[in-house]
Amino acid sequence: MKTGIEQVRFDGRKPFIIAGPCSAETREQVLETCTALAATGRVDMLRAGVWKPRTKPGTFEGAGARGLAWLTEARGATGLPVAVEVATARHVESALRHGIDAVWIGGRTTVSPFAVQEIADAVRGQRGVAVLIKNPVNPDIDLWSGAVERLLAAGVEQLALVHRGFSYSGVGQPYRNSPMWHLVLEMRARWPHLAMICDPSHIAGRREHLREVAQTAADLRYDGLMIESHVCPSQALSDAEQQITPAALDALLSEIRWRSPDGGDPEFARRLEQFRREIDQIDAELFTLLGRRMQIADMIGEEKRANNVAILQHDRWRDIVERVSLRAAELGLSPAFVKTVLEAIHIESIDRQNRIMNK
Ligand code: PEP
Ligand code: MN
Repeated sequence: MKTGIEQVRFDGRKPFIIAGPCSAETREQVLETCTALAATGRVDMLRAGVWKPRTKPGTFEGAGARGLAWLTEARGATGLPVAVEVATARHVESALRHGIDAVWIGGRTTVSPFAVQEIADAVRGQRGVAVLIKNPVNPDIDLWSGAVERLLAAGVEQLALVHRGFSYSGVGQPYRNSPMWHLVLEMRARWPHLAMICDPSHIAGRREHLREVAQTAADLRYDGLMIESHVCPSQALSDAEQQITPAALDALLSEIRWRSPDGGDPEFARRLEQFRREIDQIDAELFTLLGRRMQIADMIGEEKRANNVAILQHDRWRDIVERVSLRAAELGLSPAFVKTVLEAIHIESIDRQNRIMNK
């Protein structure tokens, strides 16, 4: 079945929605979930994992190849294309034998060039099959891009990207994986002709956060969403905390506002243009100031070199961070943002002073 995913572009009308259970567990669970999802009229592709990459051994590792037959049965019942996760050539061959329409490369597989190449070789010449590449779990855009290159070189025509967030040691953070939206913007700039689908389920990790993540994706003009859905989420054998019922998925999708690219109102376009000019002006000023700051850091570097003083002065840096953070908080800037900006400035200053010291 032609999935159409390679032509998906969110054009202000209909995002591409992929939904289905994290894992295919039983024939009944797959069929019940998939028919209920199809009945919402909002879903374009069904998903389920049959080989599950689990963090810990001894947990449910998927139903295996027999789950593929449940998925193709779901396709027969709904008319929707079906997708499954693959991590090896054997998985691909098995999926193709069962006539699965789309395969996705999971976040733990995209990290391995050997595994990605093996999958690319296995789909070579298989025109009918669509391939979705999830981002690698580590925040490495080159690695994700490399996977795209391998699949394109294998002649895959129906190719799309899935953003599932990045692993991080985010103690106290709300999400299971960090979205790092800026990295995905960079990936989209590199591959503007590939659809970008957001997977709020694996980013959020908990159903109560799905909506805010999905809305951010819509605001950033993603082309669609992949969301995990299970007829009885609390009983799910994997990812129970992030799955939602088909009815909840229907409600969630009805709440997401997919905004049009330009709004179509000339007054709005004029105001936007004015704000953008102001932003451009501020950016120019910011960089002029940063340039000036670095010149002064260089002069300090020269002084430190002449007097044989160490570059890094911990107390001084702590003072700067404290003072700037207080001011930034008054201005309503988030501590994480202030930390990122200050660290970038600090690293650049130290690099420059290092060069001066060692010239
Ligand atoms: C999944 O989609 O169920 C899955 C295992 O995803 P990821 O590779 O993003 O962890
Ligand atoms: Mn999952």
